[in-house]
Amino acid sequence: MGKEVIKQSIIHSSSRLVKTMGRRQTMMEKYKQQMKAYRKKRGKIDSTPFLPSDGIVYVMNSLNPDKKIKADVLKTRIKNHREVIESLACPECSNAMSWDSKWEAFTCEKHGKKSIYEIVPAK
Ligand SMILES: [Zn+2]
Repeated sequence: MGKEVIKQSIIHSSSRLVKTMGRRQTMMEKYKQQMKAYRKKRGKIDSTPFLPSDGIVYVMNSLNPDKKIKADVLKTRIKNHREVIESLACPECSNAMSWDSKWEAFTCEKHGKKSIYEIVPAK
């Protein structure tokens, strides 16, 4: 990573973020690698968390991408005539998670270790 990039990150981060930046970036890199491979496999382009037509949402913990977990939808909104998930219950601690566009996933920090949940198709 170049010096300029690091400087930019620090400017845009809270003081807490700066302290944990090293760990987060490692995690982010790992996540992005996994997600890149996963997205390529299923040809996903639009990352908007649309609600599936049957209303049943499955997520995948990005650090444990083999396991599919059913998640409870807490809140939705309408965007371009389609229902978009705004809030999802964390499968681990039931905390209301909101969409994190940076991670392109729902994230939870309420049960200790940060978890990143990406929406996956039912089949
Ligand atoms: Zn949680």
